[in-house]
Amino acid sequence: MINETSKKSVYLFGDEKAEGKAGMKSLLGGKGANLAEMNLIGVPVPPGFTITTEVCSQYYEVGEEKVIEKIRVEVENGIHFIEDIMGTKFGDKDNPCLVSVRSGARASMPGMMDTVLNLGLNYDAIKGIAKKTGNERFAWDSYRRFVQMFGDVVLGMEPASKEDIDPFEEIIEKLKAERGVENDNDLSVLDLKELVSRFKVAVKIVTGKDFPEDPWEQLWDSIMAVFNSWMNDRAKLYRKLNNIPAEWGTAINVQAMVFGNMGESSGTGVAFTRDAGTGENLFNGEYLINAQGEDVVAGIRTPQVITKIGSLRWAQLANVSEEDRSKLYPSLEENMPKIYDELNTIQQKLEDHYTDMQDIEFTIQDRKLWLLQTRNGKRTGASMVKIAMDLLAEGKIDEKTALMRIEPNKLDELLHPVFDNDAMNKAHVITKGLPASPGAATGQIVFHADEAEEWAKKGKDVILVRIETSPEDLQGMNVAKGILTARGGMTSHAAVVARGMGKCCISGAGSIRVNYKSRSVNVDGKTFNEGDWISLNGSTGVVYDGKIDTKEAELSGDFGVLMNLAEKYTRMYVRANADSPHDAKVARDFGAKGIGLTRTEHMFFEGDRIKAMREMILASDEAGRRKALEKLLPIQREDFEGIFEAMHDLPVTIRLLDPPLHEFVPHEEQAQKDMAEEMGITLSEVRQKAEDLSEFNPMLGHRGCRLGNTYPEISEIQSRAIIEAALNLKARGVKAIPEIMIPLTGTLAELKMQEDIVRSTAEKVFAERNDKIDYLVGTMIEIPRAALLADKIAESAEFFSFGTNDLTQMTFGYSRDDAGKFLPVYLDKGILIDDPFQVLDQEGVGLLVEMATKKGRQTKSDLKIGICGEHGGEPSSVEFCHRVGMDYVSCSPFRVPIARLAAAQAVIREDKK
Ligand code: ADP
Ligand code: MG
Ligand code: MG
Repeated sequence: MINETSKKSVYLFGDEKAEGKAGMKSLLGGKGANLAEMNLIGVPVPPGFTITTEVCSQYYEVGEEKVIEKIRVEVENGIHFIEDIMGTKFGDKDNPCLVSVRSGARASMPGMMDTVLNLGLNYDAIKGIAKKTGNERFAWDSYRRFVQMFGDVVLGMEPASKEDIDPFEEIIEKLKAERGVENDNDLSVLDLKELVSRFKVAVKIVTGKDFPEDPWEQLWDSIMAVFNSWMNDRAKLYRKLNNIPAEWGTAINVQAMVFGNMGESSGTGVAFTRDAGTGENLFNGEYLINAQGEDVVAGIRTPQVITKIGSLRWAQLANVSEEDRSKLYPSLEENMPKIYDELNTIQQKLEDHYTDMQDIEFTIQDRKLWLLQTRNGKRTGASMVKIAMDLLAEGKIDEKTALMRIEPNKLDELLHPVFDNDAMNKAHVITKGLPASPGAATGQIVFHADEAEEWAKKGKDVILVRIETSPEDLQGMNVAKGILTARGGMTSHAAVVARGMGKCCISGAGSIRVNYKSRSVNVDGKTFNEGDWISLNGSTGVVYDGKIDTKEAELSGDFGVLMNLAEKYTRMYVRANADSPHDAKVARDFGAKGIGLTRTEHMFFEGDRIKAMREMILASDEAGRRKALEKLLPIQREDFEGIFEAMHDLPVTIRLLDPPLHEFVPHEEQAQKDMAEEMGITLSEVRQKAEDLSEFNPMLGHRGCRLGNTYPEISEIQSRAIIEAALNLKARGVKAIPEIMIPLTGTLAELKMQEDIVRSTAEKVFAERNDKIDYLVGTMIEIPRAALLADKIAESAEFFSFGTNDLTQMTFGYSRDDAGKFLPVYLDKGILIDDPFQVLDQEGVGLLVEMATKKGRQTKSDLKIGICGEHGGEPSSVEFCHRVGMDYVSCSPFRVPIARLAAAQAVIREDKK
């Protein structure tokens, strides 16, 4: 049985009318919905129809035959609809109707799925086309393209190995060599005919079948192939990287062809209404004369620039003289001013209509402009922020919309390091390409996507260097620090995908000669091999020899505007997890309103401190431990003073010692020897101690408040260090607000015992100093029992901080350190949707969090509640924390802006409901 929710399977559009509209993306896919919408707002679009995403899902359920049976009549009607508008006939030999079959999912997946152009051609139809247009070359060029695309997409013709190129490209290269020509466009009509017959022979050899002549057979085969492309490897990977569910399926658009390959008065291009790399409000894009759509995005010829200003800037970058520029590379604005004006008007209309930056595809057929696609353009993090803040300032969107336009995780890109200017100026320039996606990248050259992955897995920084990247290279691009290509423009797939990933990319570096077989790249006579270091500046397009030092990014004014806006709407505030004054300062600069977690144990590993720590651990009685702890006291006090000072006037949560002591003793023989020598004991004593301390399940063992309750002197000294530090600062006029946090509480008695130690120590210090400060004593909620009995725990605790790392570990019963063996499999098989250590499991762990929050506040209505696990910086988890009513989230310093934005978005989403 076919499972259906929508009665229609096919939606028509054409002649400024449409059955669909922009709001129907789930059913029609983004491309289909926007093709419909463009018709409705009077933008010239070739007529066609959209087969719904539901049909795709049905195809995967019931298979090809049943699906064809279901949609046959509607598809046939769709074709007749196109025929009527175009005045052509599908399969006719004199006046054939040619169509494209295009994929198009709900979320845009640039280039990941397949498209077939020029469908409906066969030997008869070419003659008709040639006669009708009087352009035999065009007819054969179209057929050549069709056989090639259909061969690739439908018949599955593939390169023999990763070192080889596409079999059809190989045939083209060979013929070009035979004819001694450089460019595809230099091939004669006879050459094109020759190509087609060589293509067909290749198809027959590889697939064993004749190339289909019947247009209907071509159509149905293409439709099924496009459905199949939803499940190709690169589409799957893209969905995984972008969290797009497989259930969505792709829609299919069948659309009348318009031809950019009809000669010098035709062409095709791609444009952005604003700069997708920087966000600058400047219409920009690329085009090719006498070419079809795929040519521009696939980077086959390096295209020309659309606007004059863009062309001038490009010439400056590429060191091209004004004379050469205007003669050889004129912009569309100069080349076809009327078409340009029309395009410019339409791009403005589209941006205003969608109130966002648009990425558009267009084709010029014999001086007539057609639009083939519009979508919200992929952009870098910097561009995302600038465009949203600019649209807000221009009054085109309101504050809430502007905030919702920002993808919190993408802010991360803005915080990436950039090249140090001095280092960059000293570096040797190898070559220049197009600044396709900004950023700084240093790494070792690798030529193949799969190898980039292997190298990256070994912890190496790689730069993926390719002649051109195709969507197949997605995985390699994802792990690379940067991407460098010899061919392709600013709108090539590589560039679009790289910007979407926020990955540094330089494309169209024409002077590099990549040789996949010898794994080397030659630039002006100098050879670089696999493994050599290079650096890319994606903002200028300059490629450098060797490594270049980086420095912290400088944030633009727009970033500040955005953060202020977030501040205006947020209810929760954001703290940071920081163990050092430096981290505390970074966090504060990013707008942290305090520290939610200082892990004291990290302080014990540095320099000489570990010695005193080990002495404490080795001590056999309390007196011995106290002696060692006395040595640690001034060190800890100083550390706390530094952090309090950096966070003056803001609360700082300090957690008492948490990890099992075992982590502080060395386990390798040499280190054990060194320790024995230092401590003046024997090696076997050290070994014995290490053995005594080792546990079967250290994470469930002697750690957290269990340490402080068995060795109270540890908590006592730590409390003293905290209180004394705060008093010292007070004496200097700096206000410290300590919040002392007891880890791993399971029972009230456990917590109370620790609380007593902290409070009595504080009283002692106050008496000694004859001064006092305010402080809180609270606990982490990270053991399920504490969450279940939170009302009890709140009798002692003045605040709760959810330690969701341990809480997740103990709720699932997954050891965080061992989960690597099965979590990836669970994610692959769909047993888990997300890694619960990254994305809070709202259903289970979240239930405990919600319950503990409620119960805690039943006991103390003003109980301060926050979260300090990794989840505190993950947007969907932050939203959850807002919903359950937490006061704050705490995350690593560099995630503070992300959490601040997510907290504001949580309020806006809640208001919408
Ligand atoms: P993708 O999603 O990979 O961009 P598209 O379906 O948009 O794939 O098509 C690939 C290219 O073919 C685009 O440049 C597009 O503009 C062009 N194209 C698609 N359909 C037509 C058509 N009917 N006439 C002319 N060009 C087309
Ligand atoms: Mg495509
Ligand atoms: Mg497209």
